[in-house]
Amino acid sequence: MEGLTATYPDARTELAYRNPFELLVATVLSAQATDVSVNAATPALFAAYPDALALSRATPGEVEGHIRSIGLYRGKARNLVALAGLLEERHGGVVPNDFEAVVALPGAGRKTANVVLSNAYGFPAIAVDTHVGRLARRLGLSVQTNPDKVEQDLQALFPRDRWVFLHHALILHGRRVCIARKPLCSACVLQGVCPKIDVVVQG
Ligand code: SF4
Repeated sequence: MEGLTATYPDARTELAYRNPFELLVATVLSAQATDVSVNAATPALFAAYPDALALSRATPGEVEGHIRSIGLYRGKARNLVALAGLLEERHGGVVPNDFEAVVALPGAGRKTANVVLSNAYGFPAIAVDTHVGRLARRLGLSVQTNPDKVEQDLQALFPRDRWVFLHHALILHGRRVCIARKPLCSACVLQGVCPKIDVVVQG
């Protein structure tokens, strides 16, 4: 935690958003896609559909036209229109500050709910994506492959008020240093405490 804090003092999500609705949409779009590709598409998407009501009135085909450059765009367009409809119907168009309510939205899961609630409302959470899971295993913090179990292991190891920072810092470290295929161990601030578990296995 000391090494990550010194290296990434301002760690935060790299998704661009101006309010909880935009963060929710951007997070749904980011599944199996890069934040860069999402950020390139969302300005035009949010200009066309600035809130849940506008998005709920769109057709999936219309939304597809704005997100075609993002992976899995057809399914995501369907989910976004349905999600906006449910936000309107159940929550007055507002993203609820409630974990179970966000998880229940189409296209959202635990990871989405953790990202949205922690960034938008300060909810203590560790969203486990591919980077967080990989680093947790390499660093010997978890042996689990199921993201929900990795989340539980990390929550047990770190103080609650550092969970959101840890999530963002591990993602940045995974993108910049502890890269999936070729980790840059010699340049890593964590090399003194890292058992490099699956790096050794990979050679
Ligand atoms: S020492 Fe290597 S394996 Fe361990 S966290 Fe750093 S880059 Fe990743």
